Amino acid sequence: MTMIRYFRCQHCGERYKHALSGPPVREDRSTDKHCVGCAEAQRAALKAVPRLFEGRWRPTSECPGFEGVTLDHVLAWEKTRMTTSGPAFARRVFVGLYDLTNGDHQEVRGVVGLGTRPDGVFGPRQPGDEYQGVLFKLGTWMKRPEYELEVEWEWDLQKGAWTAQRWR
Ligand SMILES: [Zn+2]
Repeated sequence: MTMIRYFRCQHCGERYKHALSGPPVREDRSTDKHCVGCAEAQRAALKAVPRLFEGRWRPTSECPGFEGVTLDHVLAWEKTRMTTSGPAFARRVFVGLYDLTNGDHQEVRGVVGLGTRPDGVFGPRQPGDEYQGVLFKLGTWMKRPEYELEVEWEWDLQKGAWTAQRWR
């Protein structure tokens, strides 16, 4: 379902209609902050400014500080979230792959890391706390034991290389 709402442009002050959710309306070039005219002007101006960094999914095994995250960790976090928040807990679902040769398919979902104290009580930092609140992307297959575990990492577009930090 597409939700249309009125917004007031943060630059020119004009009121305009903008689609909030649902399938993207192709001809809607406005954003939730700017009307069509101002959004177009902004896009045109920003084209001249080079982008420096972007977030890319990177295997945790290659990410400094995340090498220790295992499938067991992630499945345990997932289970805890499901039992504490119920089925209404929204998991971010990604598009998985499909293996035409054997009909196997990959399920890819987002799992948010929990610290060593899921009750949220603050205290001295403990091993495992560094994963708390971090979104992991987990891909598992129905027929294979292999899995892909990734975290969003900062990619330097100028150097064409990973930086030393996480994206978010
Ligand atoms: Zn405007």
